[in-house]
Amino acid sequence: MATPVETSISSITTLTCSRCGQPHDFEVQQRVSSCCAMPLLAQYDLSGTFSKKDLQNREGTMWRYQEVLPVLDNKFKVSLGEGFTPILDFKNLGSIYGFANLFLKDEGKNPTGSFKARGLSMAISKALELGAEGCIIPTAGNAGVAMAAYCAKANLPAVVVMPRHTPKAFKEECYWYGAEIHLIDGLINDCAAEVRHLNQDNQLLDVSTLKEPYRLEGKKTMGYEIAEQLNWTLPDVILYPAGGGTGLIGIWKAFQEMIALGWLKDNVRLPRMVAVQAENCRPLVDTFLGLQEHSQNYKGLPTLANGLAVPRPLGEPLMLQVLAQSGGTAISITEDEMVEGVREIGRKEGLFVAPEGAATWMAVCKLLKQGWLKPEEKVLLLNTGSGQKYMENIEGRY
Ligand SMILES: *Cc1c(COP(=O)(O)O)cnc(C)c1O
Ligand SMILES: [Zn+2]
Repeated sequence: MATPVETSISSITTLTCSRCGQPHDFEVQQRVSSCCAMPLLAQYDLSGTFSKKDLQNREGTMWRYQEVLPVLDNKFKVSLGEGFTPILDFKNLGSIYGFANLFLKDEGKNPTGSFKARGLSMAISKALELGAEGCIIPTAGNAGVAMAAYCAKANLPAVVVMPRHTPKAFKEECYWYGAEIHLIDGLINDCAAEVRHLNQDNQLLDVSTLKEPYRLEGKKTMGYEIAEQLNWTLPDVILYPAGGGTGLIGIWKAFQEMIALGWLKDNVRLPRMVAVQAENCRPLVDTFLGLQEHSQNYKGLPTLANGLAVPRPLGEPLMLQVLAQSGGTAISITEDEMVEGVREIGRKEGLFVAPEGAATWMAVCKLLKQGWLKPEEKVLLLNTGSGQKYMENIEGRY
């Protein structure tokens, strides 16, 4: 079903195991690596002709970077207009706290209201290209909604498994896209167990975070956009609300690729990457601080930032690598602080952010107090979703 590579719009060359580097064939469906059962990373020929100039007349979506994306043939592209979201200047909050350069990239403006649209647009496009007959996903909410939408657009059956406590708006939207929904008592790891049970015969493609290689490729486009939209000058610090970690890993991957492409100078100072988690579910923070060896037995609690309730992320080693390489850190935010963040951003900047996005702002305040961050630094927050679907989590607490 895959197009011969010679006619491909993509310069993908192989998929490599993120642990040992063993190559894997990108022309067939892959899940985790066959050697180490770890995430696979798409590799491209970055020595070629893709230049910044090529971007000039490209569409205002993430697909403008098609040479460094894995879809081989345009006809399999499943798009609802995802990506190229605005970077807003947070002047009001900035002046209150003394920041000269405080920005927020608003991923809430994506189709289906979150940045999960990027990853699922890419994964479902590849599912179609590689002949999948349907898709299944364990989700904390937004990923399921996005998968249901892109599967609808691709005419593929969709099965979504989410915690029963997920706000109603996420469930309803999945139904409206015609997906089959299963509700589970527990968190996303319990949903993952149910996915394995429902999909024993492997009829459906499981698009769990980092268990297939392409959602990461969609998410990495945030990194390309940050550089392009800021006119190829990067922020000093980027704050990202980390669950499974695809955005954190993906943005960093994009920076490395842009250095190889010659779009960023070899000696460019890359941003310090901050992973922000919920106090209720902070596996990465605990491992980063040395409070546990790894998160494989971590037990998390639900949080009103549903997307952050990921107790045992498969991508933990990759996230730790990003934090180490970038000189970044990991920090957790309480439930009440997140509500305070939603309120403050709403009142001062006119934006109704997801609690996950609010957490990144509260992290800035904490890191400023700790002296880890200086007010003269250029700071970029990622608001990963719109606040609309979380209404019942925070209702009345303005
Ligand atoms: C899924 C999600 C996250 C976490 O994303 P990961 O890629 O799992 O780290 C953060 N914010 C929102 C709104 C999400 O839906
Ligand atoms: Zn391996």
